[in-house]
Amino acid sequence: MTRRKLVAGNWKMNGSLAALAELEGIAAAAAAHTDVDVAIAVPATLIAAAHARVPALAIGAQDVHPAEKGAYTGCISTTLAKEAGASFSIVGHSERRADQNESDVLVKAKAEALHKAGMMAIVCVGETLEQRDAGDAEAVVTAQVAGSLPDGAAPDWCAIAYEPVWAIGTGRTPTVADVAAMHGAIRATLRDLIGEGADAMRLLYGGSVSGANAAELLHTADVDGALVGGASLTAAAFVPIIAAA
Ligand code: PGA
Repeated sequence: MTRRKLVAGNWKMNGSLAALAELEGIAAAAAAHTDVDVAIAVPATLIAAAHARVPALAIGAQDVHPAEKGAYTGCISTTLAKEAGASFSIVGHSERRADQNESDVLVKAKAEALHKAGMMAIVCVGETLEQRDAGDAEAVVTAQVAGSLPDGAAPDWCAIAYEPVWAIGTGRTPTVADVAAMHGAIRATLRDLIGEGADAMRLLYGGSVSGANAAELLHTADVDGALVGGASLTAAAFVPIIAAA
């Protein structure tokens, strides 16, 4: 089964209107590498301007509320994100799971709302260092997959990002053997949950991906792309990752 690689950037709470200039180099690289899907999740306030600046590049949100509308101060719905120009959203990032206490049930509802809006969901999972050291990484992550996977999940609108919490923003990455083992375990869990679609679903690795390690990580068994934080903020850092895919 060959799966198209997906290289997605996550600007987190970084960037600015001026920083959108970086998207031009990223969009040019995306256009040149027709065999790779490229996407960037920008802060919500920048979605519309980003989409207007590089209409051919997939622009996304970093989170959405599961409800269509209502009294949810400070949140954005899938329809608002879509109207601004987002075609996808990250859901269940470990920073939100930790800082906003997001549960698997909530993450699942958000992913289902994205599908309903005709958007793609990148569902994040990952263990903490304590969980890895205790030998629980695989159990924790596969339980998160089972709990967060939206009903009817299909490869054309849902991808999973495995991001070990201890590898995010730290410059540390698991060994490729550890990544392959975890992605294999996630794939096996998906087979149990959704059958055939599991083999076409893209499993991204995230956590300190850079131009220096992308080629190795992106050509590891069952790794179908990357979710990139820090190294997605500039074209100079992100384009080599696209090229490595
Ligand atoms: P990082 O972040 O690439 O800066 O480690 C990855 C992420 O949190 O998605």
